[in-house]
Amino acid sequence: MNQHIIYACGLLVGINLYGVIYAFLVTKYKLLNNKKIQTRNISYETFLSRLPLFTFNVLVLILFNVIGIYFFREYFIRDFISVPWMIVEILFVLLIDDLFFYFLHRGMHQNKYIYKKIHKIHHRANTPIPLEYIYVHPLEWMSGIPGPFLGMVIIGGISFESYLIYLIIRNVHEIHIHSGVKSSKLHKIIPFYGTNEHHDAHHAKRDGNYASTFVFWDLLFKTRLK
Ligand SMILES: [Zn+2]
Ligand SMILES: [Zn+2]
Repeated sequence: MNQHIIYACGLLVGINLYGVIYAFLVTKYKLLNNKKIQTRNISYETFLSRLPLFTFNVLVLILFNVIGIYFFREYFIRDFISVPWMIVEILFVLLIDDLFFYFLHRGMHQNKYIYKKIHKIHHRANTPIPLEYIYVHPLEWMSGIPGPFLGMVIIGGISFESYLIYLIIRNVHEIHIHSGVKSSKLHKIIPFYGTNEHHDAHHAKRDGNYASTFVFWDLLFKTRLK
């Protein structure tokens, strides 16, 4: 059990360090400037101003993981079954998580009071930089926590290995869709996978494209930006 906590925390620290280094290189040294979606450059000062809230959110995220694994592990973690089943578990959790996020995110735009008080912080970025995936009001990302856990509970629990892979896919994808850099060819060939352009357009227009991991929820509910 303690080992599981160390693995999950180590993973989250590593992923978020990647997000910070990526954002640092994009703002300070204009990394991948020729592959940017929007032409606007974001200053290094903006990067620095994002760090306190980002760091606070990452620390609370890690704390939540420690509490979740230590006290509630039996509700969402089960033994490893097989590699094919692991793929099913990961896809299912990503799907339910994204559906939950879709409605949560859309609701935050439709309710003007909640938008102004909570979600507007995330939309300070019209042209996002990598670490802005978790540059949000703490209540915003906390209200997204039920999404993946709903998926895990519905499917009867997932293996700890699946949980770690879910964390990697979800968080690295979030960093990339906020990078402001065009999606790679590999990213684009995965069917219905949310591209960087998909979420960047949401930041640029502050409307539509509410889902994150996949694009089909926006297609299905007719909120995809043209
Ligand atoms: Zn965003
Ligand atoms: Zn939004």
